[in-house]
Amino acid sequence: VRVVRTRAELREARAALPGRSVGFVPTMGALHEGHSSLVRRAREACDAVVASIFVNPTQFGPNEDFNRYPRDEEADMALLESLGVDIAVVPGVEEIYPPGASVTVDVGRLGDVLEGAARPGHFRGVATVVTILFNLVQPTHAFFGQKDGQQTVVVRRLVRDLGLPVEIVVCPTVREPDGLARSSRNRYLGADERAQAQALHRALQAAEAALAEGEWSADRLREMMRVELANAPLAVPDYVSVADAETLQELDTVDRPALASLAVRFPSARLIDCLPLAGQARAGLSRPA
Ligand code: AMP
Repeated sequence: VRVVRTRAELREARAALPGRSVGFVPTMGALHEGHSSLVRRAREACDAVVASIFVNPTQFGPNEDFNRYPRDEEADMALLESLGVDIAVVPGVEEIYPPGASVTVDVGRLGDVLEGAARPGHFRGVATVVTILFNLVQPTHAFFGQKDGQQTVVVRRLVRDLGLPVEIVVCPTVREPDGLARSSRNRYLGADERAQAQALHRALQAAEAALAEGEWSADRLREMMRVELANAPLAVPDYVSVADAETLQELDTVDRPALASLAVRFPSARLIDCLPLAGQARAGLSRPA
């Protein structure tokens, strides 16, 4: 793996890549099996693979975990090497945001709901850094995890609205044996919190199962998720949502592709998870009259 730290080094390394297609996996490091799955998928699909490790300050709020976010460059590089990554981009903040940088990318209402309501400005930071990284790396394909469901919706919209020449590939969420989605933030959890954290996936599965059995009232699905989350008394729900998969507007009836998503606050970490829902048409049920 070739490690590049500046825009100039990246430009040179990018120009020297073999083949036609370049797969890009942007990350914030502290890599785990979720990230590895994206890199493997990129390796399969593309002639060359670029991964970035950048803890993006503009997507963290003032009271969030930017300073304590886990960083382990040595382990990350060893993993990227073992996965056959061609270029690892590890830029300093000033390489991404030159002194006096003032241009941002605003995604509109999509960035103001759910995670965006809980974390004002988060998706402006995400859309801005993704746009900058796409321009610097010039990938043909970029790989994102389903785990950050709203992020995938925002990135697809960004690429569509701005006409960015990159294909977005969304990869399935990698989970622990008990269902907890792999996350760099899971290491913050104490033993009791970790045990209760499986409630997130349980809640999503309850909604998925109920929908498959014909419960298409989004209100009732949200209520079922809240009941499951009550099994995690250490967790305070931030939001519980069943929304249109493209607009992220809350649904009354799951009559189209939807995203069930939730966020909870444990004392030591805030966790999110989501599951795409097919909508009742694909569950083999007819629309309600
Ligand atoms: P992060 O380093 O948390 O910014 O994540 C970088 C990329 O890895 C994003 O596209 C995430 O959605 C993806 N990712 C993180 N955790 C998982 C997971 N458990 N399964 C699949 N993808 C993941």
